[in-house]
Amino acid sequence: MPDRYRIRIAIVGGGIAGAALANSLVQIDHLEVHIFESAPQFSERGAAVGLSVNSQNALSRVLNTDAKSMLLGKAGGVPMNSTRIMMGAGPSAGSLVFNLSGTYPGIVVHRASILRELLAPLPKHILHANKKLATIRQDSDKIDLEFSDGMTEQFDAVIGADGIFSTVRQHVLEDAGKNHDATPAGFWDCRNLVPFNRAKKALGEQYFELDRQYGWVGPGALVMHDILENRTMVQCVVSGVEIDPPPDRKRPLTRDYMLKALEEWPETSVAKGMIDLMLDQPDPQGYSEWEHKSTPTYSRGSVCIMGDAAHAMTPWQGSGAGQAIEDAMILGTLLKQVDSPSQIEAAFEAYSIVRRPRCQKIIDSSRGTGGMLCGQNVETGLDPDKLKAALGPRWAFIYSLDMEQHKKEALDKFHDILAGD
Ligand SMILES: Cc1cc2nc3c(=O)[nH]c(=O)nc-3n(C[C@H](O)[C@H](O)[C@H](O)COP(=O)(O)OP(=O)(O)OC[C@H]3O[C@@H](n4cnc5c(N)ncnc54)[C@H](O)[C@@H]3O)c2cc1C
Repeated sequence: MPDRYRIRIAIVGGGIAGAALANSLVQIDHLEVHIFESAPQFSERGAAVGLSVNSQNALSRVLNTDAKSMLLGKAGGVPMNSTRIMMGAGPSAGSLVFNLSGTYPGIVVHRASILRELLAPLPKHILHANKKLATIRQDSDKIDLEFSDGMTEQFDAVIGADGIFSTVRQHVLEDAGKNHDATPAGFWDCRNLVPFNRAKKALGEQYFELDRQYGWVGPGALVMHDILENRTMVQCVVSGVEIDPPPDRKRPLTRDYMLKALEEWPETSVAKGMIDLMLDQPDPQGYSEWEHKSTPTYSRGSVCIMGDAAHAMTPWQGSGAGQAIEDAMILGTLLKQVDSPSQIEAAFEAYSIVRRPRCQKIIDSSRGTGGMLCGQNVETGLDPDKLKAALGPRWAFIYSLDMEQHKKEALDKFHDILAGD
């Protein structure tokens, strides 16, 4: 259809969400897609991200190819053959709580590597770095974007993938009543990526025989380690309960702070080795975990939000990036069916209706999981049997999503809205 009008779509934000979505949309002939990223270059901060089976399934649909081979190949990912949750402190220190999955392994991948591989297939002329969105206006059937360098552009649709403190979110929720900004979730965490042999020595050789993620539960904190980068690096994480969240969301990490956070952990535990590993980096910092406790809609007219802009969540169930990729899959499915700009509003409304309940459920579940893993849940406390019974089933609803059914629900909703039902 050579003369068909190409619907102009702006994606604001070039993180995992924006880059995944662009991969889906560039395959659709009737769309003209551009991504605007505020940073001087497209880049990911932070160490690793774990992509669970649902994330991999969604990514395969987004890329239209087997995502697993990309993640394990060029992106240097490592399969998480299992996650083993142990008691790190308390009366049952050293006991196994449970092993999570083995049947459908997640893949842990360096953030910079996955972003690089998502950007690689995209035409260079659609990637615009150093473009910080300042304002959005929709007075007619077009949307005007103004960037902080003064540039303005008009689009038929705008998708905000601009992270937890999203500018596009402010626009989408402008008329939604009370404040729906991100707020502290009650936890903080710190991370360091250390060489494999250094981690093995500090934490104990026996924990590095397999590509296994370990989580150690204790009073007020969880300690974790993951093998990465073809067994050359280990991601180390300490997460704790946060009582007084600092306004700037971070605090300098000192040995005293770490000893206080882990004060009830025994001398012999991995926690003690972990303190040395965590402090062995320039300017170690701990970060507050923030989340969106409520989001009444993900769309407003021909503007919508996705990824952390729509549903920032705590990392306890390792699902934020996966949900961004599922968003990309559903937006791609819907926009493929859109015939003209006048149908975008219906597509975005269908997207919001189908995606919001699932993402909100994961936000709430993730916070609750954090409470259990830090020994804060009054029912489960530091009892490994109770923790096993309560934690074991918490991932099933996330992993088991039927992607084809989810896409069908979105398309059915879209057609219902167009038909005026
Ligand atoms: C500690 C931690 C561990 C995690 N572990 C996991 C895990 O194991 N598995 C998992 O699935 N998820 C995990 N997550 C969640 C996951 O990292 C995020 O959900 C995901 O990276 C969000 O991607 P995003 O593209 O939506 O947002 P971001 O990565 O925040 O990207 C937003 C982009 O938008 C740009 N931007 C912002 N404002 C503007 C503007 N005005 N104009 C233009 N560009 C703008 C930013 O520069 C940035 O590049 C974890 C999160 C944390 C904090």
